[in-house]
Amino acid sequence: MHKIKNLINGVLVEPLSGTYLDNYNPSTGKVYSLIPDSDERDVEIAVKAAQDAFPNWSSLSTQKRSALLIRLSELIEKNLERFAVAESVDNGKPVWLARTVDIPRAVDNFHFYATAALHHHTETHSMGEVALNYTLRTPIGIAGCISPWNLPLYLFSWKIAPALASGNCVVAKPSEITPMTAYLLSELVIEAGIPAGVLNIVHGLGTKVGASIVAHPKIQAISFTGGTKTGEHIAKVAGPMFKKVSLELGGKNPNIIFADCDFDLAVKTTVRSSFANQGEICLCGSRIFIESPLYEKFKNAFIEEVKKLKVGDPSDDKNWLGAIVSKPHMEKILHYIELAQQEGGKIVHGGNQLKLTGEFAEGYFIAPTIIEGLPHDCRTNQEEIFGPVVTLQPFDTEEEVLGYANSTNYGLAASVWTQHLTKAHHVAAKLQSGIVWVNCWLLRDLRTPFGGVKSSGVGREGGFEALNFFTEEKNVCIKL
Ligand code: NAD
Repeated sequence: MHKIKNLINGVLVEPLSGTYLDNYNPSTGKVYSLIPDSDERDVEIAVKAAQDAFPNWSSLSTQKRSALLIRLSELIEKNLERFAVAESVDNGKPVWLARTVDIPRAVDNFHFYATAALHHHTETHSMGEVALNYTLRTPIGIAGCISPWNLPLYLFSWKIAPALASGNCVVAKPSEITPMTAYLLSELVIEAGIPAGVLNIVHGLGTKVGASIVAHPKIQAISFTGGTKTGEHIAKVAGPMFKKVSLELGGKNPNIIFADCDFDLAVKTTVRSSFANQGEICLCGSRIFIESPLYEKFKNAFIEEVKKLKVGDPSDDKNWLGAIVSKPHMEKILHYIELAQQEGGKIVHGGNQLKLTGEFAEGYFIAPTIIEGLPHDCRTNQEEIFGPVVTLQPFDTEEEVLGYANSTNYGLAASVWTQHLTKAHHVAAKLQSGIVWVNCWLLRDLRTPFGGVKSSGVGREGGFEALNFFTEEKNVCIKL
């Protein structure tokens, strides 16, 4: 069975423990590769390698660092199909999605930050004839980057790229549930000629490898994307060590559909925002609020569209949904569907595990599920499910729907559907959310600030925000 390796100091190595974890293919339920069960000793060696590499990497010209990262992005692009297939097998997502979204975005992430770093500038503050202040920005040192399983290479590269482009060395950990494309990336990091120790990738459990990265005194910045509970834990450990921390956490995103929306576009896009990637995108809208006069019409059209979505073999381009990422996650989603019924919800579509045949008989598939009849403040409508499950709720006024939308602890993303300009601006301003899409969803410009409010996290990624995060500012004041 294929053994994944760590990338430490420019070399692919086994974990010091010599032990491995099973890596499942979620569409078949079978183990298909092995993941290093690394621990604090592997992290220690990775940190040492990063420390040794830092003086040269940080003093290399931005142009040279940029050229190496562009080379890496080109190599991923050259291997796009191999990466897309690997991502699909590892995560359960349809290969067409990995081919058109995940892997192209990883290519873009490296290219974007390789070039953004060339334009990153600092400020001067003149005090007239008295003095001149200028700001120096220097890399922090070693950054720890920890990412989740839902968009594996997409989110892993989203952190690593700005950290490296701004001159830091990195110790990174992908999710142990989806390690494969990070491993394939390791091979390309070597091929691209990125110096040894600049990027180290240590595989293994969050409680071992992740926790060691977070607690390591020589790692001065932690960029984390994952669940809110894990984020809380990281904040507790990193806070007293005064590390810079960026936390991108969970969501329970509202979609607000006003009666004056562009109906067909709203229905079509809401199908995507509900069920893309099996609903396993932190930005998916899981609470759909529909203005009362449109409720029945929207519900019926939405159900009709969802009926057309095929679920199954992720390598078959006809399937719109693939497998849920793991058995425990599938069970968690099914548990929430049960809870929704106990809370009085009525399932109007789906609501069950799908049992396929042949090689997919043991796979983790769930039908796209639509539930109505639940109050906004029940657990189903307050807690993150992170699967192909949405609820429909009617509303009568703008004020009422804002109250519902803002009632959760989360505040990551929201979508608003209306043709009324003033209403759109008003609702967008009042939503407690890091991102608001008006008449669209997941339209991303990498220059924009990305992140959440409340329990969806602290800090912003994207554009210069990430380059600022990974650098330290120093003001120099010169008396004239
Ligand atoms: P998770 O928190 O379980 O794991 C995320 C990463 O943290 C993994 O690599 C894991 O190994 C590691 N980890 C676990 N325990 C750790 C610890 N004690 N110390 C350090 N690292 C540790 O999350 P998940 O289940 O992989 O991902 C799903 C969650 O991620 C959802 O809540 C989703 O909303 C969120 N998410 C958020 C965003 C965003 O941008 N806000 C994007 C994608 C996913």
